[in-house]
Amino acid sequence: MRITTQGTSHGNHTYNRFNSSTLVEVDDVSYLIDAGAPANGLMIRANKEFHKLQAVFITHMHEDHTGGLPGVIKSLLKRPQDNQHTDIFLPEERAISQLEGWLKAMHLKWPSSIISLKSIEEGPIFEDDKITMKAVGNNHIKSSNKPVSFSFILNSSEKQVVFTGDLSQDFSDFPVIVREEPSDICICEMTHFLPKTALPILKGCPIKYLVLNHIHDPWHGEGEETLKEILKSLPYPFAIAHDGDVFEI
Ligand SMILES: [Zn+2]
Ligand SMILES: [Zn+2]
Repeated sequence: MRITTQGTSHGNHTYNRFNSSTLVEVDDVSYLIDAGAPANGLMIRANKEFHKLQAVFITHMHEDHTGGLPGVIKSLLKRPQDNQHTDIFLPEERAISQLEGWLKAMHLKWPSSIISLKSIEEGPIFEDDKITMKAVGNNHIKSSNKPVSFSFILNSSEKQVVFTGDLSQDFSDFPVIVREEPSDICICEMTHFLPKTALPILKGCPIKYLVLNHIHDPWHGEGEETLKEILKSLPYPFAIAHDGDVFEI
């Protein structure tokens, strides 16, 4: 499995980071976690083929995680191959009709048989012969009803990869599964809480490799060394992701 952190910024683009999108490649197929802009441009620049994209999983509807989605859909529709199909999972039912309205407003060929828009419920959401994906609700966007922001647990050939998505300020919604089960890679956001809040919880987790993304301003540039210093007591290796970094397991 090859994981590319295409965009690693917080809620806005910065001088060296774009918004959140992470490409997961397993053998000859791929999956996209979040589609912050310019997700399709970064895939094109990296020579990634859109027809291989089996599914797109959106953690929550904030613009920094969805702003590149219309571009990804445009690229999927451009020159479809035989048997091409992509499931796009949105965290709120109402987002489906609103996205469809935007696609029609852009004069894209919609609806299309090669793309299915689906809403996310907690629990298993996707399975093919390469991966299974499970959604766990979090408190990043407060909701009195069912969750509208999610963390994702990906399993593939006995490997477990966790994408926290954006979390809450107190870090209390850091997924329980990461505290209880070994994660081969945990990709954790690093904007909505202070490192000292997260550190005691992270230290107790059976994580094999921690990748920090969604990097907050203070940890850009020279701040990166400060963050490394704060986190050096972690009992496992970690990396601060940059746009285009590749992690293989
Ligand atoms: Zn965000
Ligand atoms: Zn957010």
